[in-house]
Amino acid sequence: MIIFKRPVLTQFPSAQDLHDRILHHLTRGQGRSPETASISDWRMAISHLLREMMTDPLMAAQRATQEQGAKRVYYLSMEFLIGRTLGDAIINLRLDGAMDEALAMLGLDKRELLEDEPDAALGNGGLGRLAACFMESLSSLQCPAMGHGIRYEHGLFRQRFDSGQQVEIAEDWLDRPNPWEFPRADDSSRIGFKGHVEEVDGRAVWHPGETVIARAHDLPVIGWNGGWANTLRLWGAHPAVPFDLHRFNAGDHIGAAEPEVLARTLSRVLYPDDTTEAGKELRLCQEYFLTAAALQDILRRFLSEHGDLRLLPEKLAIQLNDTHPAIAGPELMRLLMDEHGLGFDKARNLARGTLNYTNHTLLPEALETWSTWLMGRVLPRHMQIIEMIDADHRASTGRPDHVGIVRHDQVHMGELAFIMAGKVNGVSALHTDLVRDTVFADLHKLHPDRIVNQTNGVTPRRWMRLANPVLVRLIDESIGTGWTADLDQLRGLEPFAEDPAFREGLRAAKRCNKLWLADHLLGDLGVKPDPEAIFDVQVKRIHEYKRQLMNILEAIALWRRIHDDPNGDWVPRVKIFGGKAAPGYWLAKTVIRLINDVAATINNDPVTGKFLQIAYPPNYNVSMAEKLIPAADLSEQISTAGKEASGTGNMKFTMNGALTIGTLDGANVEIREHVGAGNFFLFGLTAAEAGAEAARPGHARAAIEASEDLRAALQMVAEGRFSGGQGDAYFELLDRTWNDDPFLVASDFDAYFAAQRRVDAAYRDPAEWDRMAALNIARSGYFSSDRTIRGYMADIWRVDPVGIGE
Ligand SMILES: *Cc1c(COP(=O)(O)O)cnc(C)c1O
Repeated sequence: MIIFKRPVLTQFPSAQDLHDRILHHLTRGQGRSPETASISDWRMAISHLLREMMTDPLMAAQRATQEQGAKRVYYLSMEFLIGRTLGDAIINLRLDGAMDEALAMLGLDKRELLEDEPDAALGNGGLGRLAACFMESLSSLQCPAMGHGIRYEHGLFRQRFDSGQQVEIAEDWLDRPNPWEFPRADDSSRIGFKGHVEEVDGRAVWHPGETVIARAHDLPVIGWNGGWANTLRLWGAHPAVPFDLHRFNAGDHIGAAEPEVLARTLSRVLYPDDTTEAGKELRLCQEYFLTAAALQDILRRFLSEHGDLRLLPEKLAIQLNDTHPAIAGPELMRLLMDEHGLGFDKARNLARGTLNYTNHTLLPEALETWSTWLMGRVLPRHMQIIEMIDADHRASTGRPDHVGIVRHDQVHMGELAFIMAGKVNGVSALHTDLVRDTVFADLHKLHPDRIVNQTNGVTPRRWMRLANPVLVRLIDESIGTGWTADLDQLRGLEPFAEDPAFREGLRAAKRCNKLWLADHLLGDLGVKPDPEAIFDVQVKRIHEYKRQLMNILEAIALWRRIHDDPNGDWVPRVKIFGGKAAPGYWLAKTVIRLINDVAATINNDPVTGKFLQIAYPPNYNVSMAEKLIPAADLSEQISTAGKEASGTGNMKFTMNGALTIGTLDGANVEIREHVGAGNFFLFGLTAAEAGAEAARPGHARAAIEASEDLRAALQMVAEGRFSGGQGDAYFELLDRTWNDDPFLVASDFDAYFAAQRRVDAAYRDPAEWDRMAALNIARSGYFSSDRTIRGYMADIWRVDPVGIGE
């Protein structure tokens, strides 16, 4: 392990100091007196104060990096699912105690302040949240790094339910000024699109037909302990031509604004799905916009610091988060060849020495491709370079014909990213094995050292310290606070699992979180569960492979059994769902409607009410995750084996003391290995078995006919038991389950139902349950994103942390 000096904030401000500085920002910065200030005014003042406190570490980090000529990391991602920043900043700057006091002196309610901040949802789900956790860990580990993303005006849509059905509402986080960002009017890049390529003196010259300006907005990302901050640079699109005054003066008021509208479309909205390939021209333009803005910026800084292009691989590493920025390969080669005059081989070697690619999915529908026609029209020079890269790879490897970037008039971005990358990584041990054996099997044979594994992680600062203060107090009192920066230290809790007093503390902490959740989030839905019930939580994007359908069918089957024996000794349970479906994903939206329909029926049943309730709070996002996960007893990680690349929600639950019911999929496999098989409720087919089962004709029908519970549950849906007698509302869903069921809901159902009864049995023994929960926490250290980032630093980027003041 790398040892380095960790600077600690030397001067912790006092509460009085914070109080005075907040008032200063309120009056001088916001132009408000304390008497007239709204909660937003106070939040802006406090946020500006915290941003101010991040500037010293930000500049110290930049200075140290520059002075030491250190290698830098650039993380390119179309998504950063940031959530709120205020609470996280208070914690990482180590201000919690003093800030609480200062807020009390000012008569402000901390929770109200935190809740006033819009949730920055510049991402869809796991992939975007991973990027946000990585940014935090990079700063906490003092790795010189910069994130590059798009400053979407509208993040992921807000979800409402109307008669149980998902309705999407435009999200508007930038309606109110963002106190964290520094607009950098001077840091801008010109981004070209379309046009034609001309050859001048043997050199290609691209004459773009359209040009937009990318303008930077920098968000400081403060690391744990406040000693180091990196920048997340978000690019906004602006017109290259000024407002057309002639058209305006001629009376064409709307037409005059046209260039502005067209340009800004590029950074207007986040595509609301990362599990299907969008195939839209605007999406390709957005991907190129981000990539080109980032690479110009990166090269500019590199040239001013080092001058010599041959040093590129030594001085910087670029990580591509999925294939979305995979156009970086051709773009970097274009810059090196066309703008800096390098030959093809040199440019290729330099590009491959700096670029790396993370694969996030094996689902065929999510692998990006673009038609050569579209690519050639939008990025004509890049299409030429892609052909050159492909031909060069074919010639140098003698690869088989069916392997390659351009096939059947489609540009395959996965292959492009692989071929242009120094390292390609999967995101869990199982996923990386499958990447080697399936999507990239042929390329892996040609380049056997290129694919490496880096199992995902999450930051314990946000997902424990911020989200679960009651648990954190118990842990701090037991083993100190060192675990926050070195999560393996949670191992020190193992002996406490045998200590009844500790287990009692753990139970009390969980109960406190459950009570709060029941009072607030669930209370708003009219669901008032007993805090003694099992809080059984499945929160994540709604997708067939994640199998929310199996979960709700299990609820129906259980409900039916309780009905048959209402005086039985049932273990009370509240099933909590959360998650959005992509607006165009009809089947996923049908599952949402089914969950809401079933909830409406079951929650109104006086016979079963004390045993089973269902809650589906709308608009799952990072802020909601921070409330739900600490209150969970049971974590549902039930995807079809072989389909979930890693999962990161699973890790958040484990470190907060929920037990997992799950399949051998993604990082579940490693979670189970770490926490111990006896402390994990495993069920279901393995990835290999699932592959064989899905290929067996009639597998679903056979499984349904063999399962009385499943058959009865499906029958109740078909009869319209949950939809006012209108069974046909779910005809397509049922038809697919009976006749196709590619994600094996039917085949795994009985094993899942049986595993849930094992959960019930375990929950009856509080001492045993709490012992298992304690061991889950104690053994979750591996799932810190600090461990993941250390892995990337050592195996992929070959960068060292930088000390300050050395
Ligand atoms: C962690 C997280 C995810 C990823 O959850 P998975 O269960 O791994 O799919 C998605 N959305 C939000 C808001 C998250 O915090």
